[in-house]
Amino acid sequence: MLPRVAVIGGGLTGSLCALSLVSRGLQPVVFDAGRGLGGRSTAAHFLTTADPHLSAVLSTLAQNKLVAPWAGRFGIVGSRGGFLAAQHVASGLGGRSLSSDPEDVSSTLPQAPIDEGDFCGFLAASSPSNKAASPLHCAVGGGRSLAEGICELGGIDVRSSSKVTSLQLDPASSRWTVRASSGSPAPEALEFDAVVIASHDPSFAASAIADLPAEHPSLADDVVRSTLADLAKALRDLREEATSPVFTLKAVYPPNSLAAVPFDAACLPTNPSIQFLAREASKPGGGASSPDGDAWTAVSTSGFASALLANSPSSPTDAAAALLAPSLQSAFAAFYPVPGIAPAPLSVSAKRWGAGFTTKPLVPGGAEKFVGLQPFNLAIAGDFVAGGTCPGEAGAISGLLAGERVATWLSAN
Ligand SMILES: Cc1cc2nc3c(=O)[nH]c(=O)nc-3n(C[C@H](O)[C@H](O)[C@H](O)COP(=O)(O)OP(=O)(O)OC[C@H]3O[C@@H](n4cnc5c(N)ncnc54)[C@H](O)[C@@H]3O)c2cc1C
Repeated sequence: MLPRVAVIGGGLTGSLCALSLVSRGLQPVVFDAGRGLGGRSTAAHFLTTADPHLSAVLSTLAQNKLVAPWAGRFGIVGSRGGFLAAQHVASGLGGRSLSSDPEDVSSTLPQAPIDEGDFCGFLAASSPSNKAASPLHCAVGGGRSLAEGICELGGIDVRSSSKVTSLQLDPASSRWTVRASSGSPAPEALEFDAVVIASHDPSFAASAIADLPAEHPSLADDVVRSTLADLAKALRDLREEATSPVFTLKAVYPPNSLAAVPFDAACLPTNPSIQFLAREASKPGGGASSPDGDAWTAVSTSGFASALLANSPSSPTDAAAALLAPSLQSAFAAFYPVPGIAPAPLSVSAKRWGAGFTTKPLVPGGAEKFVGLQPFNLAIAGDFVAGGTCPGEAGAISGLLAGERVATWLSAN
């Protein structure tokens, strides 16, 4: 029988990890608590990478029509509301935070690291001067279709609406029992040879480490025990101190009413509440377009989201929509000759992403892309491990490499 691996989390990290496991002859099962797969990639606008391995995977996904390059008018909206196309944005952008530009009024705004001006590496990837990065790729049918399409490509067993509630390692057989609740009274229990945790929540991995059986031979070693305790604490701290929320706002405008807006997507490095903005219809496959009109999606800054949530509003998403919609309106108003005549949206709705981004990775400097605990056949993957300019890329690489490493462990047994 092929070795079986439980992959907990069916976002970009988990689905690519499962694909990597299948391609090495293993049998992964992907568990996801959501009704569909995709996780946060359902909110992501694009993926870009300078990594040759991930570029090759993206080419395969493009051949299967799951992703496609996004070509459009890209750039930044400056502090006075004007638009600067990506090809004119200073070529020395690499590593420099736009918000720390002394000529930019936003340098005085308190901003978290993810709001440093270049949203997820968007400008670096869309600037013609950057030869290293691959173009921006979009999930053609959205993040859910991408994750589900990846699993379909690999013929992977997927359990959606299955929240993993317990992970138990039997020290005698070295096999894992995974319990997942899927709405039925008794959680389903399945056995595996290895587990990859690809959840968005590092504290889930911390609990799995804390629950490792004390009688496991490796845990007789004091150094191993104390290293694992430190790792569990670091993962817990990451969740509590280095995870930033954001809101997204979807606004639908009357068809063609925003023809004066000179871009399809832009970073807004000087805007205190919105950091990125995109016209959905400009994306390959139409993105999250609306049949009613011209749909735009804005991503809030983490500073905005944290400040709003600190006030404990009764409906955070309604409060976010009420505050973000006027900000969006003023961003568009700059492109209309008579102030105040920018068209009004037909509808607005907001969504909250509690664990949107990691502000400080588990392993700064990117030395490790995933955490591998070979004595237990346990790996932890996700964008929070190594971090990086493009979090989707960090998660994808983490998942692919974790899958490869687990396959190596199991083939050596
Ligand atoms: C608003 C927003 C916009 C973004 N835009 C971009 C962008 O344009 N480009 C970019 O590169 N990055 C972007 N990102 C970041 C990107 O979406 C993430 O880096 C990437 O999707 C992470 O994937 P993941 O699989 O590691 O985590 P997730 O996508 O969070 O997936 C984790 C999955 O695990 C599941 N899960 C958790 N616990 C359990 C459990 N106990 N049992 C079963 N399942 C469980 C969850 O349901 C979830 O589906 C954006 C993020 C946000 C919030």
